[in-house]
Amino acid sequence: MTKTGGKGFSLARRLYTSRILGVALGLVCVSAAMYPLDPAPWVWGFMWFNGLIWPHVAYQWARRAKRPYHAEHRNLLIDAFLGGFWIAAMHFNPLPSATTISMMAMNNVAIGGMRFLLAGTAAQVLGVGVGLQIFAPAFIPATSPLQLYACLPLLCLYPLALGWICFRQAHTLGRQKRELLALSRTDSLTGLLNHGAWKDQLEVEFQRCKRQQKGGAIALIDIDHFKAINDTYGHVAGDIVLRQLSKMLRQNLRATDVAGRYGGDEFCVILPDLPLNRAAVVMDALRDRFATLGYEQNPALKVSLSIGLASFNPAHADATLWLNDADHALYEAKTTGRNRVICCGNGKPHRELFNSV
Ligand code: GH3
Ligand code: MG
Repeated sequence: MTKTGGKGFSLARRLYTSRILGVALGLVCVSAAMYPLDPAPWVWGFMWFNGLIWPHVAYQWARRAKRPYHAEHRNLLIDAFLGGFWIAAMHFNPLPSATTISMMAMNNVAIGGMRFLLAGTAAQVLGVGVGLQIFAPAFIPATSPLQLYACLPLLCLYPLALGWICFRQAHTLGRQKRELLALSRTDSLTGLLNHGAWKDQLEVEFQRCKRQQKGGAIALIDIDHFKAINDTYGHVAGDIVLRQLSKMLRQNLRATDVAGRYGGDEFCVILPDLPLNRAAVVMDALRDRFATLGYEQNPALKVSLSIGLASFNPAHADATLWLNDADHALYEAKTTGRNRVICCGNGKPHRELFNSV
């Protein structure tokens, strides 16, 4: 199947059911209009072909086509052409003709918008022209009651079916959009929020703290000598460590805390409404638990964390300054020996409120 095949094939499958219904109901409508005109046997044959066999031919044609999407567009133009042809054959009997035109217009605009509506109308006009060449031009001004009743199934059922198809389509698109949005915000290795999504949350939290004049803390967590872990045990082992840390963050934080992967071996956490000293206790417990963790695959593997913490500072103009505080604290943790939590609070950069070592 070609690259466009998937998209075209699903269009052909969707249209298959609606075409079966539409042309079968159309057959009832057109037959009632044609019957008093006593058409030739080939016209009856063609009518029955169009009403009962054409949807299956169109589907197989599109299915087997190299580009099913284009093939289905061609089929829709054939639908429109045949609609025009039958309008001329019915001698423009008002209700069956109007029904045919409006159902096809609805179909074409639903599938291809205004452009396709125009293309379909052109095909329909062409069909009328060919019909006028074959059947003597005439006009039947009145629709009989029987013909009116014969049009009702098409008028009532087809819009219902098309509306249902459009609803299903919109529903699927909505779900796919939500899934894509979630994917675009998720780090694929750890399942945590990715850099961009976490920073969006940080901005929200910063504004909330400002508005409500509440405190909170953020933590930047970096794995110590992670490059050496990769080099010694391999990248697969490195990935296991990253996943293990994300699992631990999920298990040990509150539901309101927001953890993300900042990038590489660096993680980030928002701890809303938590004073710096309590945030430090939480982070130090995490550091401690992570340091004593065993790895089945590599029992010798020991990993430590450096953590920089910063509390919300109302004097800061924006959230990046808050992040800078945490970054400075992390730098401090790295340069003073690693495997520790360093805090930065109350607008006093690098003030060490809690040192685990
Ligand atoms: P430090 O203690 O100063 O933090 O040293 P470090 O080795 O941890 O820091 P550095 O920034 O030099 O190394 C981070 C490494 O993380 C480098 C990169 O190859 C590795 N890394 C980044 N993303 C991934 C990943 O998704 N999987 C694995 N296995 N490694 C990754
Ligand atoms: Mg590191």
